[in-house]
Amino acid sequence: MELITTRLSDLRVDAPGAILRGLAPDGGLFVPDKIPAFSRSEIESMAALPYPELASEILYRFLPGFTREELLEYARKAYASFDDSAVTPLHTLEDGLWTMELFHGPTCAFKDVALQLLPYLLSAALRKCGEDRTVAILVATSGDTGKAALQGFADVPGTRIGVFYPRGGVSDIQRAQMVTQEGDNVLVLSVVGNFDDAQSGVKKIFSDMALKERLEKAGVVFSSANSINWGRLVPQIVYYYAAYFQLLRSGAVKMGDPVDFSVPTGNFGDILAGYLAKRSGLPVGRLICASNSNNVLTEFLQTGVYNRNRPFLLTMSPSMDILLSSNLERLLYFLTGSGEQVSRWMTELGETGCYNIGPETLARLKGEGFAACWSDEALTGATIRGTWEKTGYLVDPHTAVALYAARQVRKTGGSAPCVVLSTASPFKFAPAMLASLGQQEAENGFAAQERLAAFSGQRVPAPLDLRGKRERFLDCVTPAGMASAVEKWLTE
Ligand SMILES: *Cc1c(COP(=O)(O)O)cnc(C)c1O
Repeated sequence: MELITTRLSDLRVDAPGAILRGLAPDGGLFVPDKIPAFSRSEIESMAALPYPELASEILYRFLPGFTREELLEYARKAYASFDDSAVTPLHTLEDGLWTMELFHGPTCAFKDVALQLLPYLLSAALRKCGEDRTVAILVATSGDTGKAALQGFADVPGTRIGVFYPRGGVSDIQRAQMVTQEGDNVLVLSVVGNFDDAQSGVKKIFSDMALKERLEKAGVVFSSANSINWGRLVPQIVYYYAAYFQLLRSGAVKMGDPVDFSVPTGNFGDILAGYLAKRSGLPVGRLICASNSNNVLTEFLQTGVYNRNRPFLLTMSPSMDILLSSNLERLLYFLTGSGEQVSRWMTELGETGCYNIGPETLARLKGEGFAACWSDEALTGATIRGTWEKTGYLVDPHTAVALYAARQVRKTGGSAPCVVLSTASPFKFAPAMLASLGQQEAENGFAAQERLAAFSGQRVPAPLDLRGKRERFLDCVTPAGMASAVEKWLTE
């Protein structure tokens, strides 16, 4: 297998080449020329493996250019920082419905699963490609990626890590997690605007050829830790397998039974990893794309029309407040196999904010098992409260969106076992949790954590207790000022 791009160039690279570049030079994303597939017996033989071993088997097939031994070493190191030996444990919620807790890593969000591993992949990629320049990772974040990337890359030799977050668009705790980050190779800036503004700003920097040339002279090349990076996406395939095998071992399913997954979706990275798990042979039934009030994807999956021309809403699930879902481009490529077609749609999206994939591609999309549903703020709040009252289990607002979607979709046909991806610790979003649970507001995010802990009888996870940590990064830029801020940081 080699990696090619979703657009027009005929560049072919191995995984180290794709990981170093991040975005393909033609503006597209890297995808495999042929999606790897496991046979039934290969899948059966992986069912009892501990998480790092399972990870190395799967990564090996999706990351040509790395050896199994290398990948096993990286996975062992990466997942040693998780506080649960299953890494991504399942929790039984109700009949036929589980949550998979993806937040047991060092920043309490699912981004850790990929971003604890990516620095090892990137450091090795530097070596393998004979690259002796510094790699500057730039990240636009709706909250969780930023901290997870900072945590993964802080003080990793040969790298620098710069993070942009929308001012006012992340929770108090997410902000505190980022601006208190330690490390000598780190920059954190807030951007006047929303997540899409920050993400567009980063994309613009990546495609600014003059800036690129000046920085290359100064010994710096760019890469990305957003889910546009192939090395960021692939580690997420693993936990779909891990979930299936946990169900298998507990006797909840027999080998070959389909399992549905409900995925709280923003940039379409997480659910695309589920699609790749399915295409590689895992018996996945439906992939439920769950959105909050920014429901551009629900509409797209139902009508085939992608239309970002709508108000950008701030919700209590900020990591899903996205109107431009980058990874959808990869799915469009898998469905059509045509870089020309994908380029046309992406150009239309850039020019008009809208494109229509037409009835044929839409039918193919539905045939792949995608379903879609969205939840407004009131329904999300009611899901948090109802779940707590019925089962004594706290789901964060992102997870609640996916849980609502799972229940809705299950009502309308099919009751296969369903795993809801739980993407963040509820303590990261304590004020929204308190409001949803009908509890009194607190004066800030930290007081809210305390109150949520007292209310639920659970402890605030240690990585989220940030009181007394020094805030290092207080600067703010406009989208137009991002490039010069980056250049200054990387050259002075
Ligand atoms: C990033 C994130 C999501 C969305 O994941 P995508 O891969 O962008 O679709 C959902 N929930 C939480 C908590 C996140 O941090």
